[in-house]
Amino acid sequence: METRMYKTTWPEVEEYLKENDVVIFPVGSQEQHGKHLAEDNDSFTATEIARRVGERTGVLVAPTLPFGNSVHHMNFPGTMTLTFETLVAVYRELCECLIHHGFRKIVVMNAHGGNTAAIAQALREIKEDTGIKVYSLMAFPSQRGFGAESTQVIKQESGGHACELETSIELYLGQRVLMEKAEKWKKPKGITAFDEKWGRKVSWTRDFDWSTEIGSLGDPEAATEEKGRQMVEATVDEISAFIEDLKAL
Ligand SMILES: [Zn+2]
Repeated sequence: METRMYKTTWPEVEEYLKENDVVIFPVGSQEQHGKHLAEDNDSFTATEIARRVGERTGVLVAPTLPFGNSVHHMNFPGTMTLTFETLVAVYRELCECLIHHGFRKIVVMNAHGGNTAAIAQALREIKEDTGIKVYSLMAFPSQRGFGAESTQVIKQESGGHACELETSIELYLGQRVLMEKAEKWKKPKGITAFDEKWGRKVSWTRDFDWSTEIGSLGDPEAATEEKGRQMVEATVDEISAFIEDLKAL
């Protein structure tokens, strides 16, 4: 069965809905990912992880929303962002289209941390509008999320963006990766003694170049395709197990 909903016909969707009301909605961003990863990285990852989970579980996958909230990356060329309010409305309206057709178990598969607050707000509004509980999860593995054990292959001290973890995953998924341009994080020149003393304990609005001049964090030079394979397989396995439990609810 074709599980990419954007490649199905309406009678196929109608037939699917007789037996199944689960759908995955991948969401990403168009945002700088250092000097070595393509700007569509989060959208590409959400699409690829969702496609694998869809094939494994027989669940339909909606088209990926390629834009997210990336306002903190706008100092780097190529980034495109929606405002928080617009993004909440887009998530809500698109999920409500799926609800209109009869999907009752929607899983927003997010691959960009900057979208998390807008997704939470949209899910709250959808619940109040329709009574339907929409689920959301992160497509990337993490120590507290899916594929947690597999992240032990990662050796960098800290990361979180275009880092050893993300770059390894992309090498395995077939993203455009310019490994010769990958650079280990260095302290930005503009960081002050005050920033260093208080920056971890006190929050204020920061653009991404406050943390990194090159756009990446951690140690992408240590990335390998094999680490990516282990993390992707563990993540797809565990998200698929969640989808199977959700189907059975
Ligand atoms: Zn990313």
